[in-house]
Parts: sequence; C-alpha cells; structure tokens
Amino acid sequence: MARSRVLRPPAGRQPESGRMIMTDDDMLALVVRGHRDHGLERRPRPEPGPGEALVATDFAAMCGTDLRLLDGTLHDAEYPVIPGHEWSGTVLAAPDRPELVGRAVVGDNFRLCGRCPACLAGRPNLCTDIDEVGFTRPGAFAQLFTIPAANLVALPPQVPGPQACLLEPLGVALHAVERAGAVSGRSVGVIGAGTIGLLVAQLARGAGASRVRVADPLQSRRRIAADLGVDADPGIEGWHPDLPEVVFDATGAAGVFPRGLTATAVGGVYVLVGYSGAEAVTVEPSTVMLRELTVQGVLSGQGQLRTALAKVVAGEVRLGPLTGDPVPLTSYRSVLERDGPAPLRLFFHVGGDRTAGATSQEQGVTA
Ligand SMILES: [Zn+2]
Ligand SMILES: [Zn+2]
Repeated sequence: MARSRVLRPPAGRQPESGRMIMTDDDMLALVVRGHRDHGLERRPRPEPGPGEALVATDFAAMCGTDLRLLDGTLHDAEYPVIPGHEWSGTVLAAPDRPELVGRAVVGDNFRLCGRCPACLAGRPNLCTDIDEVGFTRPGAFAQLFTIPAANLVALPPQVPGPQACLLEPLGVALHAVERAGAVSGRSVGVIGAGTIGLLVAQLARGAGASRVRVADPLQSRRRIAADLGVDADPGIEGWHPDLPEVVFDATGAAGVFPRGLTATAVGGVYVLVGYSGAEAVTVEPSTVMLRELTVQGVLSGQGQLRTALAKVVAGEVRLGPLTGDPVPLTSYRSVLERDGPAPLRLFFHVGGDRTAGATSQEQGVTA
C-alpha cells in the first residue's frame, strides 16, 4: 500500500475541470479548510485501520448540512474536513469482510464510543464521542475513504448508485417518524418538500397515516410530491381548519417554527427535523402549553440503513423522483454557483469513469 505523505501545497490544487486522476500514492478530495475555504486537493491515499474497509466512492450527494459545512455555519464543525456522508461506493479492501471486495455498498457512517450515557441508553446518534464519516473523519467527497467494515451493506442491483446516496437521509426520515410516535390512523402534515420532507411523507403514508399532505412554496417541489402521489399545498395556511395531528417541520427555517406550531392540531405532535442553524425566532411558549403539543427534535438517523434499504426494495419509498443527474466532482464549484431553482440535492459522481445512472454528466441537477 502507499506510504502516507504530507499534503501538497495549495499550488497543487486540482483545476475545476478535466479528468480526475488518481495515482498509486494519492487521490483527489474536496477539502474544507475553514469558513468558505474549500477546494479539490491531492491527498494521500487513506490506509484502512484494524476492522476498516477501503471504499472507492462512486456517487456522493451534497445536502444542506454539507453546504453549511462549506459555508462555515454548521455547529461543532471541525476543520479541515473532507465532507460526504451520503454516498455509494465499491469496496477495494476489507480484510475482515473479504466477501465484500468488488461489491457496490452503502454504509452506516457512525462509529460509536459504546460507553457514554446516550450509547448506554440505546440512543446511538446522540453519542457524545461519535466518530462520523464526513464530519469527524474523512468523508466520501474523495476518490477513496475508510469506514468500519462492519458498517457496510451490499447494495442490491435494483437500487442504482445515485439513488443509494439517499439511504442516509432516509435513515433520518425513519427516525423522524419514530420520534412522532404512532402515525397509523392519524393525519400528517409535512412542512417543506425537500428530500427529507418527501421521504417522511412516503414513510408516513406507508405507516398507515389517514392523510398525508406537504406544504412548499416551490412549484417544482410540489410537482415531485404529486409524482409521488402526495397532496401538496403552497403553504400551511391551506391546512386550516382541518389541522394535521402530526406535523413534521423539514424546512430548516427558524421562522417556520411558531407558525408550524399553530398549524398543528390540539394535542398533536410537532417534529423538528430541519436544521435551522443559529437562527433565532420569537415563540410564545403558551402556543405549546395551551394546545398541549408535544415537540420532538431529530438530530440524525440511528443506524437503520438496512431498514431503509428494505423499504426501498419493497417499493414503499421511491427514491428515483428525488435523485438528480450526477455531475463530475471536478465541477462542484460551478454547480454550487449555478443560478436557478434550488435543487433537492446535488449529486456527484466521484469514481474515475463510473457514470452509471448519469444521463448527462454536465446537465446538472433537477429541481
Ligand atoms: Zn445529509
Ligand atoms: Zn457514546
């Protein structure tokens, strides 16, 4: 295996176009060095440690959390970091699980301490000493990365690589629905028809909700909701007077919170799954008290990757309408600067010539 060596100086940064070239010694990676300081760089080829696998990234999606990481507005971000927690790849080496070598995989991104109160209480995503791909350890916006081999799951052929990137956010959506308590037989409203919102809507329907509706001002997103067979309104004002009993706030916009609480039925549950960063908002606590609402927070998924995959294979959740055409990682900067309607996610293909699932490398993402 390659020896490790120091990072090349900034002069070695990769141009924003052209083929990505990986030598025996190094690889190309998107490195975030600090607030709005990021670029493609050559990094030493990673070496898997004990129990780890070496994975070649095929596809990676960039979500709002990644954008905050690039922008420097994510709580507790540690730099430098190679982002990338929504990915699919191919196993190059896995001494503990040799059967996976050459297989397309996805994986749970966490390595837990196993000792903290959260771990002992069975709430792994709240581990206070968590090691997570794309945050505290190098992520998938690189040609190669390492991950505990035990976390990997082989990808069945019916789930294309770009769609498989959405299994991670589907895990978040699964946990959000769990946090809501019983959904069966209850009416559900989802504020924000982004990826998480549309995944939550599909899961709520699959869990037997009596009615599921989403609200989003963007027509392009309401169209995707319609494609998924979910009722969509431009705003939550349309929910009155028949308010949903369970409301998921998947907007990540602080200003939605007070309005969303008043759009939840008396005695209902309000689940906060969008990340609004450090934005503050004025709320009357009486809104919760007088209506006896239950407010639940959702940080991330809880390691339900296999459950997420099973729901996709069973057809309970459709990922295709939520997936854009992948573009090469080398053009990430121009994609970020592109005008037009905000896409649900940005999808990149990272592997050298792996373009499976991409209809056009340069066509960009869908709205
Ligand atoms: Zn994400
Ligand atoms: Zn822990």
